Amino acid sequence: QVVNYAPFTLLPSAVPRALFEQAYAVQQDFNLLVDAISQNKEFLEQTLASTIKVDDFTARLFRIYMQVLEEGLAQTVFLGINRSDYMFDCGLDGTAALRQIEINTIAASFGGLTSRTADVHGLVLKVLGKTEEASQLLPNNPAKGLALGIAKAWELYGSQGAVVMFLVEEIQRNIFDQRCVENELWTRNIRVIRKRFRDVFEQGSLDASRRLYMDGQEVAVVYYREGYVPQNYNQQNWEARLLLERSRAVKCPDIATQLAGTKKVQQELSRPGTLEKLLPGRPEAIARMRATFAGLYSLDEGEEGDRIAATAIADPDRFVLKPQREGGGNNLYGEELQQVLEKIKDSPERTSYILMDKIKPQPALNYLLRAHSPLQVSECISELGIFGVYVRQGQELVLNQAAGHLLRTKAIEHADGGVAAGVAVLDTPYLV
Ligand code: ADP
Ligand code: MG
Repeated sequence: QVVNYAPFTLLPSAVPRALFEQAYAVQQDFNLLVDAISQNKEFLEQTLASTIKVDDFTARLFRIYMQVLEEGLAQTVFLGINRSDYMFDCGLDGTAALRQIEINTIAASFGGLTSRTADVHGLVLKVLGKTEEASQLLPNNPAKGLALGIAKAWELYGSQGAVVMFLVEEIQRNIFDQRCVENELWTRNIRVIRKRFRDVFEQGSLDASRRLYMDGQEVAVVYYREGYVPQNYNQQNWEARLLLERSRAVKCPDIATQLAGTKKVQQELSRPGTLEKLLPGRPEAIARMRATFAGLYSLDEGEEGDRIAATAIADPDRFVLKPQREGGGNNLYGEELQQVLEKIKDSPERTSYILMDKIKPQPALNYLLRAHSPLQVSECISELGIFGVYVRQGQELVLNQAAGHLLRTKAIEHADGGVAAGVAVLDTPYLV
């Protein structure tokens, strides 16, 4: 086994205070929205209809979703842990605006490690003689907030002896991030086990009331840190996923909530009138969310899709082309966007992508510290994430919170991002 330190910036990065506060202020709204989408079969069916015809991965998830609905849900408690990500778009007049990149509704990571980064940056500032600046760094402990949500779901499940199961990767690359959350649960005297899909396939079973057991041990909550990309699945793993989804255990997220986080759903949310249908009677929440949206465009077959495809081919630097994938490194930019779109513009394959306006932040200098990489000053841009946690029992929302933040920074020569993808590094916001 090889242990490396997680990559981080030498210095904290400046973040406009007003945008930081705006991102926190809208998080409970996004929690509500994701939860509402996950309960709206008609919306998910309509929105994903074109996508599942051409995208096999989304189609398989959707089939499980329909199957568990037909059988009837055994699960009565719902736990959402998400992270809404933003960049700061720099307007022509130099002012910055908060623009949502995406909401991650499954396996949103780095809530653990980032609970430590403010301390690292505080120390660096002190070493530099910047004691006053060091004292300005905000405390931040998403691990605690995520554990609070998991603990609440565990408690409502209502079985003292039951455990929380972290569903983890075959090859574990981010175990310490997960341990931070795990340790918060042990502190609360909640037992945690770590299992892979293959363990579930081999040891998992349901009893007559669809309680989930792993080798005889009852599982109250399944917290997925795996299962969001096609490479996570073989036939056995799909069977294991179906078993988990059919069970009474609280899944974080359930399959409906995973589907609510697809890029296609995000694009449909930006259509005039959609938010009003999903959250009737909540005009203020809708206005707060809409204020963070960037331009998003459907590539479905028809005139609307034809027109935007032609616009993007003519002016590719204005857009990002996104498939229904997670985890970084999948989006297309510039010339590559142009070539791919040119190739698929008259084929149904086009509908497996969406188009988004490209956000253009103002770069700043920083040093990126990464194990085994040379140290050099880079022009960097940052992405702010806010963690959201909510718990619903039946129709009653019993917890709805923002649980902390994450700042990731990357050199501008990389169009795409992600810490796990090896591009972005952990950072701390310094509010200005
Ligand atoms: P993933 O699910 O792979 O994380 P994202 O939508 O978050 O997909 O995109 C990955 C990365 O690509 C982001 O972290 C960001 O750096 C970059 N990116 C995504 N959308 C945009 C955009 N509209 N403008 C500029 N950069 C973007
Ligand atoms: Mg992302």
